Amino acid sequence: MNAPTFRPAIAPPLWLLAELTYRCPLHCPFCYNPVDSANDRTELTTEQWFDVMRQARQLGAAQLGFSGGEPLLRDDLEELVGEGRRLGFYTNLITSGIGLTESRLARMKELGLDHIQLSFQDSTRELNDFLSSTKTFDLKARVARLIKQYAYPMVLNVVLHRFNLDHVERIIAMALEMGVEYLELANTQYYGWALVNRDQLMPTREQVAHAESVVNACRARIGNKMRILFVVPDYFEARPKACMNGWGGVFLGIAPDGTALPCHAARTLPGIDFPNVRDTRVKEIWYDSDAFNRYRGDAWMKDPCRTCDDKAKDFGGCRCQAYALTGDAANADPVCAKSARHGDVQAIVMHAQRTQQDAVWQPAQPIVFRKNPQK
Ligand code: SF4
Ligand code: SF4
Repeated sequence: MNAPTFRPAIAPPLWLLAELTYRCPLHCPFCYNPVDSANDRTELTTEQWFDVMRQARQLGAAQLGFSGGEPLLRDDLEELVGEGRRLGFYTNLITSGIGLTESRLARMKELGLDHIQLSFQDSTRELNDFLSSTKTFDLKARVARLIKQYAYPMVLNVVLHRFNLDHVERIIAMALEMGVEYLELANTQYYGWALVNRDQLMPTREQVAHAESVVNACRARIGNKMRILFVVPDYFEARPKACMNGWGGVFLGIAPDGTALPCHAARTLPGIDFPNVRDTRVKEIWYDSDAFNRYRGDAWMKDPCRTCDDKAKDFGGCRCQAYALTGDAANADPVCAKSARHGDVQAIVMHAQRTQQDAVWQPAQPIVFRKNPQK
Protein backbone atom coordinates (compact mmCIF):
# COMPACT_ATOMS: atom_id res chain seq x y z
CA MET A 1 0.00 0.00 0.00
CA ASN A 2 1.25 3.50 -0.83
CA ALA A 3 2.27 5.80 2.00
CA PRO A 4 -0.44 8.45 2.43
CA THR A 5 -0.09 11.57 0.30
CA PHE A 6 0.63 14.74 2.23
CA ARG A 7 -0.66 18.07 0.99
CA PRO A 8 0.28 20.59 3.61
CA ALA A 9 -1.32 24.01 3.64
CA ILE A 10 1.28 26.46 2.40
CA ALA A 11 2.93 28.10 5.40
CA PRO A 12 4.48 31.54 4.98
CA PRO A 13 8.21 31.86 4.36
CA LEU A 14 10.25 32.14 7.55
CA TRP A 15 13.67 32.85 6.17
CA LEU A 16 14.43 35.51 3.58
CA LEU A 17 17.93 35.23 2.17
CA ALA A 18 19.00 38.37 0.33
CA GLU A 19 21.88 37.42 -1.96
CA LEU A 20 22.90 41.01 -2.49
CA THR A 21 25.61 40.42 -5.07
CA TYR A 22 27.49 37.61 -6.75
CA ARG A 23 30.66 39.73 -6.62
CA CYS A 24 33.27 38.55 -4.14
CA PRO A 25 36.94 39.38 -3.61
CA LEU A 26 37.67 35.69 -3.03
CA HIS A 27 37.70 32.83 -5.53
CA CYS A 28 36.82 29.73 -3.53
CA PRO A 29 36.70 26.58 -5.67
CA PHE A 30 33.80 25.27 -3.53
CA CYS A 31 31.67 28.40 -3.87
CA TYR A 32 27.97 27.59 -4.17
CA ASN A 33 27.28 30.58 -6.43
CA PRO A 34 26.23 29.72 -10.00
CA VAL A 35 29.20 29.08 -12.27
CA ASP A 36 27.79 31.46 -14.88
CA SER A 37 27.36 34.32 -12.38
CA ALA A 38 30.19 36.10 -14.24
CA ASN A 39 27.49 37.04 -16.73
CA ASP A 40 25.23 38.53 -14.07
CA ARG A 41 25.54 42.29 -14.12
CA THR A 42 22.21 43.47 -12.81
CA GLU A 43 21.67 43.87 -9.08
CA LEU A 44 18.53 45.07 -7.36
CA THR A 45 18.68 48.67 -6.14
CA THR A 46 18.42 49.68 -2.49
CA GLU A 47 14.76 50.64 -2.96
CA GLN A 48 13.96 47.33 -4.63
CA TRP A 49 15.54 45.46 -1.72
CA PHE A 50 13.55 47.57 0.76
CA ASP A 51 10.39 46.64 -1.09
CA VAL A 52 11.25 42.90 -1.10
CA MET A 53 11.96 43.03 2.64
CA ARG A 54 8.67 44.82 3.38
CA GLN A 55 6.68 42.34 1.32
CA ALA A 56 8.38 39.29 2.87
CA ARG A 57 7.92 40.66 6.38
CA GLN A 58 4.23 41.25 5.69
CA LEU A 59 3.94 37.60 4.68
CA GLY A 60 5.49 36.54 7.99
CA ALA A 61 9.21 36.10 7.30
CA ALA A 62 11.14 36.56 10.54
CA GLN A 63 14.78 35.98 9.70
CA LEU A 64 16.74 37.95 7.16
CA GLY A 65 20.16 36.86 5.93
CA PHE A 66 22.45 39.10 3.89
CA SER A 67 24.83 37.03 1.78
CA GLY A 68 26.31 36.88 -1.68
CA GLY A 69 29.04 36.76 -2.97
CA GLU A 70 30.33 39.21 -0.43
CA PRO A 71 27.51 41.44 0.85
CA LEU A 72 30.01 44.02 2.13
CA LEU A 73 30.71 44.93 -1.50
CA ARG A 74 27.33 46.68 -1.47
CA ASP A 75 27.79 50.25 -0.22
CA ASP A 76 24.15 50.25 0.92
CA LEU A 77 24.53 47.25 3.24
CA GLU A 78 24.15 49.44 6.34
CA GLU A 79 20.94 50.95 4.95
CA LEU A 80 19.58 47.49 4.24
CA VAL A 81 20.47 46.26 7.73
CA GLY A 82 18.79 49.32 9.25
CA GLU A 83 15.61 48.76 7.24
CA GLY A 84 15.60 45.05 8.06
CA ARG A 85 15.78 45.80 11.78
CA ARG A 86 13.16 48.55 11.50
CA LEU A 87 10.81 46.02 9.93
CA GLY A 88 11.40 43.64 12.84
CA PHE A 89 13.58 41.01 11.17
CA TYR A 90 16.27 39.07 13.02
CA THR A 91 19.23 40.06 10.84
CA ASN A 92 22.25 37.96 9.97
CA LEU A 93 25.33 38.96 7.97
CA ILE A 94 27.07 36.05 6.22
CA THR A 95 30.51 37.26 5.23
CA SER A 96 34.09 36.42 4.33
CA GLY A 97 35.02 39.43 6.45
CA ILE A 98 36.69 41.25 3.57
CA GLY A 99 35.56 44.87 3.75
CA LEU A 100 34.37 44.73 7.36
CA THR A 101 36.11 47.81 8.73
CA GLU A 102 35.60 49.00 12.28
CA SER A 103 33.51 51.96 11.17
CA ARG A 104 31.16 49.77 9.13
CA LEU A 105 30.82 47.29 11.95
CA ALA A 106 30.19 50.04 14.50
CA ARG A 107 27.47 51.49 12.25
CA MET A 108 25.78 48.13 11.78
CA LYS A 109 25.92 47.47 15.50
CA GLU A 110 24.26 50.83 16.09
CA LEU A 111 21.58 49.93 13.56
CA GLY A 112 20.89 46.68 15.41
CA LEU A 113 22.49 43.96 13.27
CA ASP A 114 21.86 40.81 15.33
CA HIS A 115 24.32 38.22 14.11
CA ILE A 116 27.45 37.76 12.01
CA GLN A 117 28.76 34.55 10.49
CA LEU A 118 32.40 34.75 9.42
CA SER A 119 34.03 32.24 7.11
CA PHE A 120 37.63 31.01 7.03
CA GLN A 121 39.03 28.63 4.45
CA ASP A 122 41.49 26.96 6.82
CA SER A 123 43.51 27.26 10.02
CA THR A 124 46.73 27.85 8.10
CA ARG A 125 47.58 31.04 6.24
CA GLU A 126 48.98 29.01 3.32
CA LEU A 127 45.86 26.99 2.61
CA ASN A 128 43.43 29.80 3.45
CA ASP A 129 45.18 32.05 0.96
CA PHE A 130 45.66 29.33 -1.64
CA LEU A 131 41.98 28.33 -1.64
CA SER A 132 40.67 31.88 -1.73
CA SER A 133 43.35 32.98 -4.24
CA THR A 134 43.98 36.02 -2.05
CA LYS A 135 46.17 37.02 0.88
CA THR A 136 43.36 37.39 3.38
CA PHE A 137 44.17 35.16 6.35
CA ASP A 138 45.55 37.95 8.55
CA LEU A 139 42.75 40.29 7.55
CA LYS A 140 40.13 37.69 8.52
CA ALA A 141 41.87 37.18 11.87
CA ARG A 142 41.62 40.95 12.49
CA VAL A 143 37.93 40.90 11.55
CA ALA A 144 37.34 38.02 13.98
CA ARG A 145 38.82 40.16 16.78
CA LEU A 146 36.63 43.11 15.78
CA ILE A 147 33.51 40.96 15.87
CA LYS A 148 34.38 39.92 19.43
CA GLN A 149 35.19 43.49 20.37
CA TYR A 150 31.69 44.53 19.31
CA ALA A 151 30.21 41.82 21.53
CA TYR A 152 28.72 39.66 18.81
CA PRO A 153 28.45 35.94 19.41
CA MET A 154 31.34 34.57 17.39
CA VAL A 155 30.08 32.21 14.70
CA LEU A 156 32.70 30.70 12.43
CA ASN A 157 32.12 28.68 9.31
CA VAL A 158 34.79 26.55 7.62
CA VAL A 159 33.98 24.51 4.53
CA LEU A 160 35.73 21.14 4.64
CA HIS A 161 37.09 19.02 1.79
CA ARG A 162 40.06 16.86 0.86
CA PHE A 163 42.59 19.66 1.43
CA ASN A 164 41.66 20.68 4.98
CA LEU A 165 39.83 17.74 6.56
CA ASP A 166 43.06 16.61 8.16
CA HIS A 167 43.37 20.05 9.77
CA VAL A 168 40.16 19.76 11.78
CA GLU A 169 41.95 19.62 15.11
CA ARG A 170 43.91 22.78 14.27
CA ILE A 171 40.77 24.50 13.01
CA ILE A 172 39.07 23.75 16.33
CA ALA A 173 42.12 25.05 18.22
CA MET A 174 42.08 28.23 16.13
CA ALA A 175 38.37 28.70 16.82
CA LEU A 176 38.90 28.25 20.57
CA GLU A 177 41.69 30.79 20.52
CA MET A 178 39.44 33.27 18.72
CA GLY A 179 36.72 32.82 21.33
CA VAL A 180 34.30 31.26 18.85
CA GLU A 181 31.01 30.25 20.43
CA TYR A 182 29.66 28.29 17.49
CA LEU A 183 31.81 26.51 14.91
CA GLU A 184 30.21 25.15 11.77
CA LEU A 185 32.37 22.57 10.00
CA ALA A 186 30.43 22.11 6.81
CA ASN A 187 31.72 19.47 4.46
CA THR A 188 31.50 20.61 0.86
CA GLN A 189 28.19 19.98 -0.82
CA TYR A 190 28.58 19.63 -4.55
CA TYR A 191 26.76 22.52 -6.20
CA GLY A 192 28.03 25.45 -8.25
CA TRP A 193 31.83 25.63 -8.36
CA ALA A 194 32.12 22.68 -5.98
CA LEU A 195 30.40 20.48 -8.58
CA VAL A 196 32.95 21.63 -11.17
CA ASN A 197 35.74 20.72 -8.72
CA ARG A 198 34.10 17.59 -7.31
CA ASP A 199 36.89 15.17 -8.13
CA GLN A 200 39.49 17.55 -6.75
CA LEU A 201 37.64 18.32 -3.49
CA MET A 202 36.17 14.92 -2.66
CA PRO A 203 37.77 13.52 0.50
CA THR A 204 38.35 9.87 1.24
CA ARG A 205 35.99 7.97 3.53
CA GLU A 206 38.88 7.58 5.95
CA GLN A 207 39.39 11.35 6.08
CA VAL A 208 35.73 11.98 6.85
CA ALA A 209 35.59 9.26 9.51
CA HIS A 210 38.82 10.46 11.12
CA ALA A 211 37.71 14.10 11.17
CA GLU A 212 34.40 13.12 12.74
CA SER A 213 36.17 11.19 15.49
CA VAL A 214 38.48 14.17 16.13
CA VAL A 215 35.42 16.43 16.41
CA ASN A 216 33.75 14.04 18.85
CA ALA A 217 36.87 13.86 21.00
CA CYS A 218 37.15 17.66 21.02
CA ARG A 219 33.49 18.01 21.94
CA ALA A 220 34.03 15.70 24.91
CA ARG A 221 37.13 17.64 25.96
CA ILE A 222 35.81 21.20 25.69
CA GLY A 223 32.21 20.64 26.72
CA ASN A 224 29.91 23.65 26.34
CA LYS A 225 32.68 26.15 25.80
CA MET A 226 32.10 26.01 22.05
CA ARG A 227 29.40 24.23 20.08
CA ILE A 228 30.66 22.36 17.02
CA LEU A 229 28.43 21.37 14.15
CA PHE A 230 29.96 18.79 11.81
CA VAL A 231 27.96 18.35 8.62
CA VAL A 232 28.79 15.07 6.89
CA PRO A 233 29.03 15.29 3.08
CA ASP A 234 25.85 14.06 1.40
CA TYR A 235 27.75 11.65 -0.83
CA PHE A 236 28.89 9.68 2.23
CA GLU A 237 25.39 9.26 3.64
CA ALA A 238 22.74 6.60 3.02
CA ARG A 239 19.80 8.99 3.46
CA PRO A 240 19.45 12.47 1.99
CA LYS A 241 19.06 15.71 3.88
CA ALA A 242 15.64 17.33 4.18
CA CYS A 243 16.79 19.93 1.68
CA MET A 244 15.61 23.45 2.61
CA ASN A 245 13.09 21.78 4.91
CA GLY A 246 11.10 21.06 1.80
CA TRP A 247 10.89 22.99 -1.47
CA GLY A 248 8.89 26.18 -0.88
CA GLY A 249 8.61 25.26 2.81
CA VAL A 250 10.39 27.98 4.79
CA PHE A 251 13.12 29.39 2.57
CA LEU A 252 12.80 32.27 0.14
CA GLY A 253 16.04 33.19 -1.61
CA ILE A 254 16.35 36.29 -3.74
CA ALA A 255 19.29 36.31 -6.16
CA PRO A 256 21.16 39.58 -6.87
CA ASP A 257 19.11 40.22 -10.01
CA GLY A 258 15.79 39.69 -8.19
CA THR A 259 15.13 36.09 -9.23
CA ALA A 260 13.22 34.30 -6.48
CA LEU A 261 14.53 30.83 -5.66
CA PRO A 262 13.34 28.01 -3.36
CA CYS A 263 17.02 27.06 -2.84
CA HIS A 264 20.39 28.56 -3.80
CA ALA A 265 21.05 26.10 -6.60
CA ALA A 266 17.53 25.91 -8.06
CA ARG A 267 18.47 27.90 -11.15
CA THR A 268 20.38 24.86 -12.40
CA LEU A 269 17.04 23.06 -12.96
CA PRO A 270 15.82 23.26 -16.54
CA GLY A 271 12.23 23.96 -17.55
CA ILE A 272 11.32 26.14 -14.58
CA ASP A 273 10.56 29.80 -15.10
CA PHE A 274 11.70 31.35 -11.84
CA PRO A 275 9.78 34.55 -11.08
CA ASN A 276 11.48 37.87 -10.42
CA VAL A 277 10.59 40.39 -7.73
CA ARG A 278 11.00 43.18 -10.29
CA ASP A 279 7.71 42.21 -11.89
CA THR A 280 5.92 39.82 -9.50
CA ARG A 281 4.75 40.41 -5.93
CA VAL A 282 6.43 38.25 -3.30
CA LYS A 283 3.06 36.91 -2.15
CA GLU A 284 2.22 35.71 -5.63
CA ILE A 285 5.69 34.20 -6.03
CA TRP A 286 5.42 32.28 -2.76
CA TYR A 287 1.87 31.00 -3.00
CA ASP A 288 0.98 30.88 -6.67
CA SER A 289 4.05 30.55 -8.86
CA ASP A 290 4.68 27.31 -10.70
CA ALA A 291 8.32 27.48 -9.59
CA PHE A 292 7.54 27.45 -5.86
CA ASN A 293 4.73 24.89 -6.21
CA ARG A 294 6.61 22.52 -8.51
CA TYR A 295 8.02 20.28 -5.75
CA ARG A 296 5.78 21.11 -2.80
CA GLY A 297 3.91 18.23 -1.16
CA ASP A 298 4.51 14.85 -2.76
CA ALA A 299 2.28 14.70 -5.82
CA TRP A 300 5.38 15.10 -8.04
CA MET A 301 7.22 12.15 -6.49
CA LYS A 302 8.07 8.92 -8.27
CA ASP A 303 8.97 5.65 -6.64
CA PRO A 304 10.78 4.88 -4.40
CA CYS A 305 9.89 8.20 -2.68
CA ARG A 306 6.17 8.08 -3.55
CA THR A 307 5.64 4.93 -1.52
CA CYS A 308 8.25 5.58 1.15
CA ASP A 309 7.37 6.13 4.81
CA ASP A 310 10.14 8.72 5.13
CA LYS A 311 8.89 11.08 2.43
CA ALA A 312 7.45 13.57 4.91
CA LYS A 313 10.79 13.58 6.78
CA ASP A 314 13.25 14.28 3.97
CA PHE A 315 10.94 15.29 1.08
CA GLY A 316 12.90 12.97 -1.22
CA GLY A 317 16.14 14.91 -0.60
CA CYS A 318 17.53 17.61 -2.84
CA ARG A 319 15.98 18.34 -6.24
CA CYS A 320 19.15 19.97 -7.57
CA GLN A 321 21.26 16.99 -6.56
CA ALA A 322 18.71 14.61 -8.10
CA TYR A 323 18.93 16.57 -11.34
CA ALA A 324 22.72 16.94 -11.31
CA LEU A 325 23.27 13.22 -10.75
CA THR A 326 20.35 11.55 -12.53
CA GLY A 327 19.16 14.13 -15.08
CA ASP A 328 15.64 14.21 -13.57
CA ALA A 329 14.83 16.53 -10.67
CA ALA A 330 11.78 14.43 -9.74
CA ASN A 331 13.89 11.36 -9.02
CA ALA A 332 14.85 10.41 -5.48
CA ASP A 333 18.04 12.14 -4.42
CA PRO A 334 20.55 9.38 -5.34
CA VAL A 335 22.33 9.91 -2.04
CA CYS A 336 19.51 7.72 -0.70
CA ALA A 337 20.40 4.03 -0.55
CA LYS A 338 16.84 3.25 -1.73
CA SER A 339 17.49 5.07 -5.03
CA ALA A 340 18.27 2.86 -8.02
CA ARG A 341 21.04 5.38 -8.80
CA HIS A 342 22.73 5.25 -5.40
CA GLY A 343 25.53 3.18 -6.93
CA ASP A 344 26.41 6.21 -9.11
CA VAL A 345 27.14 8.25 -5.98
CA GLN A 346 29.33 5.53 -4.57
CA ALA A 347 31.13 5.26 -7.91
CA ILE A 348 31.80 9.03 -7.89
CA VAL A 349 33.34 8.78 -4.42
CA MET A 350 35.48 5.81 -5.48
CA HIS A 351 36.54 7.50 -8.73
CA ALA A 352 37.61 10.66 -6.91
CA GLN A 353 39.57 8.60 -4.42
CA ARG A 354 41.36 6.65 -7.14
CA THR A 355 42.24 9.64 -9.30
CA GLN A 356 43.36 11.86 -6.45
CA GLN A 357 45.13 9.36 -4.26
CA ASP A 358 48.37 11.23 -3.80
CA ALA A 359 47.07 14.71 -4.33
CA VAL A 360 47.98 17.31 -1.78
CA TRP A 361 47.41 20.79 -3.14
CA GLN A 362 48.25 19.61 -6.63
CA PRO A 363 45.41 17.37 -7.69
CA ALA A 364 45.61 15.37 -10.90
CA GLN A 365 43.18 17.81 -12.49
CA PRO A 366 43.80 21.46 -11.75
CA ILE A 367 41.39 23.21 -9.40
CA VAL A 368 39.05 25.66 -11.12
CA PHE A 369 38.83 28.84 -9.05
CA ARG A 370 35.65 30.86 -8.96
CA LYS A 371 35.45 33.75 -11.40
CA ASN A 372 33.76 37.04 -10.62
CA PRO A 373 31.03 38.98 -12.40
CA GLN A 374 32.53 41.72 -14.60
CA LYS A 375 30.71 44.53 -12.78
S1 SF4 B 1 32.40 30.75 -1.02
FE1 SF4 B 1 34.22 32.06 -1.20
S2 SF4 B 1 34.08 32.94 -3.28
FE2 SF4 B 1 32.01 32.14 -2.76
S3 SF4 B 1 30.91 33.86 -1.90
FE3 SF4 B 1 31.85 32.75 -0.17
S4 SF4 B 1 33.84 33.75 0.18
FE4 SF4 B 1 33.12 34.39 -1.86
S1 SF4 C 1 13.21 6.83 -0.93
FE1 SF4 C 1 12.88 9.03 -1.12
S2 SF4 C 1 11.60 9.60 0.63
FE2 SF4 C 1 12.44 7.52 1.05
S3 SF4 C 1 14.27 7.89 2.28
FE3 SF4 C 1 14.93 7.79 0.12
S4 SF4 C 1 14.88 9.92 -0.64
FE4 SF4 C 1 13.71 9.86 1.30
